[in-house]
Amino acid sequence: MDLPRKTWDSPECDCGATIQSMQHLILDCQLRKYAGDLDDFVKVTPEAVVWLDHLDIDI
Ligand SMILES: [Zn+2]
Repeated sequence: MDLPRKTWDSPECDCGATIQSMQHLILDCQLRKYAGDLDDFVKVTPEAVVWLDHLDIDI
């Protein structure tokens, strides 16, 4: 029997948070938190684009 594998379909984040939302990833995630401002994603700054590019999750 295969062990259940954690997939990105799971709502849980692998940092231990119960919900892996975009807001969590940007603001709260211990593993991936964005260093800049949430507003950067509204303005789509180069920094935000790079962060998204390097994110290991498809969103
Ligand atoms: Zn997280």
